[in-house]
Amino acid sequence: MKDKEMLLDGQQQKTGVSRRIFLKTVTGTVAGIGISQMFNPALVLALEKALETHPVLWIQGQGCTGCSVSLLNCVDPSIADVLLKVISLQFMPTVMASEGDTALNNLYHIAEKYKGKFSLVIEGAIPMAANGKYCVIGELNHKEITMVDIVKDLGPKAGSVLAVGTCAAYGGIPAASGSETGATGVRNFFQTYGIKTPVVNIPGCPPHPDWIVGSIAHLLTKGLPELDNDGRPNIFFGDNIHDNCPHLDEFDSGIMSEKLSDAKGCRMDIGCKGPDTYADCYNRKWNSGMNWCVDNAVCIGCVEPGFPDASSPFYEPA
Ligand code: SF4
Ligand code: SF4
Repeated sequence: MKDKEMLLDGQQQKTGVSRRIFLKTVTGTVAGIGISQMFNPALVLALEKALETHPVLWIQGQGCTGCSVSLLNCVDPSIADVLLKVISLQFMPTVMASEGDTALNNLYHIAEKYKGKFSLVIEGAIPMAANGKYCVIGELNHKEITMVDIVKDLGPKAGSVLAVGTCAAYGGIPAASGSETGATGVRNFFQTYGIKTPVVNIPGCPPHPDWIVGSIAHLLTKGLPELDNDGRPNIFFGDNIHDNCPHLDEFDSGIMSEKLSDAKGCRMDIGCKGPDTYADCYNRKWNSGMNWCVDNAVCIGCVEPGFPDASSPFYEPA
């Protein structure tokens, strides 16, 4: 009730939720609690309102579906609420029941109806070689629809695009050395075809579910978040992992891990790429706040544009 009352004053009447409430929500990193579980009534109300006119459509290209799985895993058992209320996905290949012509017709129908307003989430890279034939996402009227086709069709109609995962953002593993498919990220694809729709990159292999949900919530309630030079929201990717690592003191004192099972020591000598990586994993942590890569292994820089080639070999010093 108190939160609902807050909606009635000042600037909150316009946006549905104040910047203070929003930031408090998305930067909250209480161990074990994902962003979606921290949404307060004011934010949920604002999202529900925004989604009536700004649906979210999620398409998948050349990837492993890990980004979808990351999102679906994070908030169990409240994933239904996340999908239906918080980000209200109206099209998502991994979870939706419809298929074939019905599904694709529905996708195009929603895109046309909410032209310039819907948010398009793109998961996976876009393979441009061989006329896009490396990734056929479905058929419509007996004609193959490739990832290239769908992004060319829907990209210009969307109000905004979220490139979810390092594959969608920068090409990622499908674009790694030796790739034959011409895999590329959304920004590069848009540049090639002169598509002007703004793109928010949410890299990660996979991205943290909070980064996905938080960025969609930002788009819906506050508009485009502030981005860094690589197109990532500063709110999640603004800080360097090494500078904030719990092993920084050990690094400064020259105490180094020699093997992955060492409990103590900086992990640089066994391959940690934290110094070249910007994300809040050190604080937000993974698996519902249980741990993060540096606890058990090393940071392999999965959110950076050069991943995976620039971080390889993963378990050798940079
Ligand atoms: S473990 Fe990695 S991130 Fe942490 S201090 Fe060492 S190099 Fe930096
Ligand atoms: S710690 Fe590094 S490798 Fe692990 S998720 Fe974060 S950015 Fe990716």
